Amino acid sequence: MDDLFVRIINGEIPSKKVFENDKVYAFEDINPKAPVHVLVVHKEPTENINDTGLDKAYIYSDLFLAAREIAKKLNIDKTGFRTIINSGPDSGQEVYHMHVHILGGKKMQNLV
Ligand code: AMP
Repeated sequence: MDDLFVRIINGEIPSKKVFENDKVYAFEDINPKAPVHVLVVHKEPTENINDTGLDKAYIYSDLFLAAREIAKKLNIDKTGFRTIINSGPDSGQEVYHMHVHILGGKKMQNLV
């Protein structure tokens, strides 16, 4: 059975699309943690960073180059934004399909 994000990419589950190209699909998070909260999902599913090695290094560039374009499109490139990838249980990862969170539109607390 396809994971949640594959079903979103295929249009079986509705989403608010923000951006798409042949590598990634990006949409608004259903439970936003900031005024802008977008998920950038790779169309080739890997689970997380643990599952995405050198043979799949292009996944990182595809995700982050799209994130860069989306930040510009949503006008948060100059004000700033945060990108997060959760990997594994302690991170709170809910969906085991590699994705980047883009958070912006407000001043955020320093985490690190
Ligand atoms: P993660 O915890 O990194 O796996 O992130 C999964 C994210 O998917 C969470 O921020 C959820 O709010 C979000 N999410 C879950 N279901 C949906 C959905 N149907 N549409 C949009 N975002 C979703």
